[in-house]
Amino acid sequence: MQVRKAVEAVCGGVPTAAQLESINALAKARLTAEQVYVFSLRLCDDQVDRDGERFDTGALPGLAKLFLGKTGIVDHQWSSEKQVARIFETQVVKEEGFSYIKAWAYIRRGGVNEEIIADIEAGIKKEVSVGCAMGRSVCSICGSEYGCCGHQKGEHYDGQVCCAILKEPMDAYEFSFVAVPAQREAGVLKAMGGNRKCLKELAEEFGVQTEYRALYKEAQLGRQYRKELENDLVRLCLTLELGVEEPVLRGIVKTAAAEDLLKMRSSLEGRVAEMMPVTTQLGSKFDAREGLESGFLI
Ligand SMILES: [Zn+2]
Repeated sequence: MQVRKAVEAVCGGVPTAAQLESINALAKARLTAEQVYVFSLRLCDDQVDRDGERFDTGALPGLAKLFLGKTGIVDHQWSSEKQVARIFETQVVKEEGFSYIKAWAYIRRGGVNEEIIADIEAGIKKEVSVGCAMGRSVCSICGSEYGCCGHQKGEHYDGQVCCAILKEPMDAYEFSFVAVPAQREAGVLKAMGGNRKCLKELAEEFGVQTEYRALYKEAQLGRQYRKELENDLVRLCLTLELGVEEPVLRGIVKTAAAEDLLKMRSSLEGRVAEMMPVTTQLGSKFDAREGLESGFLI
């Protein structure tokens, strides 16, 4: 499958002697240190991204090799000559708790490229997106091919959040500088959507992480509550022997509005109580949840 991710360009400058050697191994004509500008890029890492996917840690070295020699392009705004940068060195960097591919790329100095260099220096053109092809995408919960099991990215399963793990690197493509914010709306690349700030980032930017964390926790509880509500309804429908199969019921309750589910549950509970007057066990279970429930009614 094709994967495209946003990465960041970090500081750059004059190449070292060793870097210049690597650059010249790729360049058509021999270049001097004065003719090139080098900068580093943080390519893929093994952390879950906004798409609910992550690269397999074991896949990073292979992927790093594939990115060697790949070119970088900028959008037409900067240059008519599209290919401007080239990756000449990649390595897998291990940090505490995560690993990532660090790449070094060079740009030939002069002409329109000076604008890009100036922008990188100024930290303006920070958004870079990379594309690659991965052979497999595996479910983090059960290990089967993602999409073949019932697990969904972003959903919780026994305290674990499901994600798709990208394995078996097949190919790496050119990377591109994305003009920010001018090109944000262009929507050419998948990563463009990803460049939009998520709530968590906004919370960090405005220093309201505590509130964000509290909200996140509440949302998690809300999701759990919703799941219980769905389970209750399925159980009630099955108890009433409506003749509808469980998978069908599950499908229906999954898409129904919470308000409708609440109304439905209360009427079905009434119906079950009429049918089976001795429902102490079931009844006490619902009563115990009343307190929690009221906190989530919106
Ligand atoms: Zn699964």
